[in-house]
Amino acid sequence: MSGDAGLPARFRRRAVTPDEACLRIVKAVLPLEAETVPLPEAWGRALASDVTAPHAYPPFRRSAMDGYAVRAEDLPSDRADGSAPAVLRVMESVPAGKVPSRPVGPGQASRVMTGAMLPEGADTVVMLEMTDAGDRPDADTVRIGKAVPRGRNVSDIGSEIKAGDRIAEEGRRIGPGETALLAAFGLSRVSVVRRPRVGVLSTGSELLEVHEPLAPGKIRNTNAWMLAGMIRDAGGEPVLYGRVPDESRRAQAAIYRGLSECDLLLTTGGVSVGDHDVLAEVVSSWRGEVLFDKVAMRPGSPTTAAVSDGKLLIALSGNPGACFVGFHLFAAPAIRAMLRCAQPLMPKYPARCAEAWLKINAYPRYIRSRTEFREGSLWARPAGNDQSGLMATIAGTDALMVVPPLKEGLEAGAWVQVMPLREGGWL
Ligand code: AMP
Ligand code: MG
Repeated sequence: MSGDAGLPARFRRRAVTPDEACLRIVKAVLPLEAETVPLPEAWGRALASDVTAPHAYPPFRRSAMDGYAVRAEDLPSDRADGSAPAVLRVMESVPAGKVPSRPVGPGQASRVMTGAMLPEGADTVVMLEMTDAGDRPDADTVRIGKAVPRGRNVSDIGSEIKAGDRIAEEGRRIGPGETALLAAFGLSRVSVVRRPRVGVLSTGSELLEVHEPLAPGKIRNTNAWMLAGMIRDAGGEPVLYGRVPDESRRAQAAIYRGLSECDLLLTTGGVSVGDHDVLAEVVSSWRGEVLFDKVAMRPGSPTTAAVSDGKLLIALSGNPGACFVGFHLFAAPAIRAMLRCAQPLMPKYPARCAEAWLKINAYPRYIRSRTEFREGSLWARPAGNDQSGLMATIAGTDALMVVPPLKEGLEAGAWVQVMPLREGGWL
């Protein structure tokens, strides 16, 4: 018989690895449905389907430079034998947006501006600076002293994108590049994934609202506002449920209500083994599947996830530092999976630890850090005091440094892994 069999459930938890916890979470959520929005509102949203180019790009043969459109064969040969400069007759001047009215034949050239359609017959553009007529828009002839390879400064039809090419895939977040493509192809209405509604419920009898004056024994509800912002950055729509005191009936009612109204519910606080830890109580009589109730990690080892009626609850620690880490590790991947992101998990990169790290745990530690490039590699510097209850060190953090369970501390310069916090990025 195991020695802890008589203890309450909250003391008998089995830890899963952070990777396993993440996988269980991502598997537990379903991709959300599509909705159509105008292009200006698509920024930051996830594409609901692959997008293919409806036509070639560029859609016509155009000049990539201000210059003269010529036939390469009319130019001097490129042998360094001092062959005579070409003197070509200028047919017309073609600005961007105008269709050339005349072809370019032997011994002829047309002045063309960047983005202008190339006249028939021309196959090459010689930039203005390489001619004697750069500053003479009305010149009748143009002299060109040097050879220019055929095709230089000409963008052919479809040279960038062919009709039918896939230009972006389902789940891709719409950033600058995607917006440019959608606009270029006239896709003014975009099919995007509906934003997941992510509920935020704070537990704790000590919590005040932000506008309330401090009172003895009380603190303000910090986590809710931090989470609301992070949810938005991750592509979700926060739904704020305020706070409930540490009374399990009230917490339970608020949790099931939140789950029924949202796609995902985040709670903070009350998830540990304390006397008034209401989440532990609610989960002990859970109406559904508990995915895990302990993760082998610091901070935030009591983090819990459970599914009821197809809806996911992620119960984060109340400690702001742990809540921040838990959001990135578990909630952001859940949101990205709902947004059909192909790789919803946090990426990890090798980096070097910028200072010695001596605090060693039996569990891997996710340390709030700041990264920089130096001496050809990425370095991560712990943001300062890393205790899970502290929030000052959340500010300025751009990565989590992962310190594995070690026998000894890390020396400065040791190789570790870092997880860049990519919210707001365009991956
Ligand atoms: P708990 O996870 O409920 O045991 O709370 C751990 C610590 O985090 C305690 O010091 C709480 O007062 C604090 N805490 C809990 N919830 C919040 C919150 N929403 N905002 C700021 N601090 C909190
Ligand atoms: Mg609490």
